[in-house]
Amino acid sequence: MKIILLGAPGAGKGTVAKLLTEMDGSVQISTGDILRAAVKEGSALGREAKGYMDRGDLVPDELIMKIMEVRLQQPDCRKGFILDGFPRTIPQAEALNILLETLNIQLDSVVNLEVPTDVILDRLTTRRTCANPECQEIYNIKSNPPTADGKCKKCGTPVVQRDDETEAAIMNRLDTYNKKTSPLIGFYESRGLLKNFLSLSSKDTVAQIGKTLSR
Ligand code: AMP
Repeated sequence: MKIILLGAPGAGKGTVAKLLTEMDGSVQISTGDILRAAVKEGSALGREAKGYMDRGDLVPDELIMKIMEVRLQQPDCRKGFILDGFPRTIPQAEALNILLETLNIQLDSVVNLEVPTDVILDRLTTRRTCANPECQEIYNIKSNPPTADGKCKKCGTPVVQRDDETEAAIMNRLDTYNKKTSPLIGFYESRGLLKNFLSLSSKDTVAQIGKTLSR
């Protein structure tokens, strides 16, 4: 499948994307994961992106498009891809249209995960992430806790609250989503690509998406 996953921060895009990759071997492309790995590495990209990310602001469109131009041409994308966290602005969506046309790639669908705001806030403040960049397993201190001493169940690395998951950064990310990213819903709806899913449980949502896309 070749799809874009839309949804507010905390809507569960990462979890849903991971489960979707298991359906047909498509790759998950998360700009957030790529940027976090670059920050960890201390590369030029990471140094440039870190300040924006810590505040919960968007990284400039030009930087993101440079990443995506390279990423979408890698051979593992031929089987299919799930874009998780990209595009985030109308200029990114417009640039993506041009890039896909140049690469002769056609999108199947744009999947929008709808989650009530109170559920999103609760999820974001209770979320913890494995600090190992190779793993990055996501936990929730209420519904899916790590080990009793706060370690990842998969790799044993301590789990942490991301810098952009402090309350101030979360409020900024949600505000940024409402102003800059939510207009993409109309953008893709008017192009006949949008499919909405009320998403309270990632597993149920993935089953629904699978059914809808295979029709
Ligand atoms: P995420 O894990 O998708 O929530 O992304 C974490 C952070 O990375 C965001 O708050 C932004 O600072 C940055 N980021 C990720 N994807 C993008 C994008 N497509 N455009 C701009 N900034 C992005």
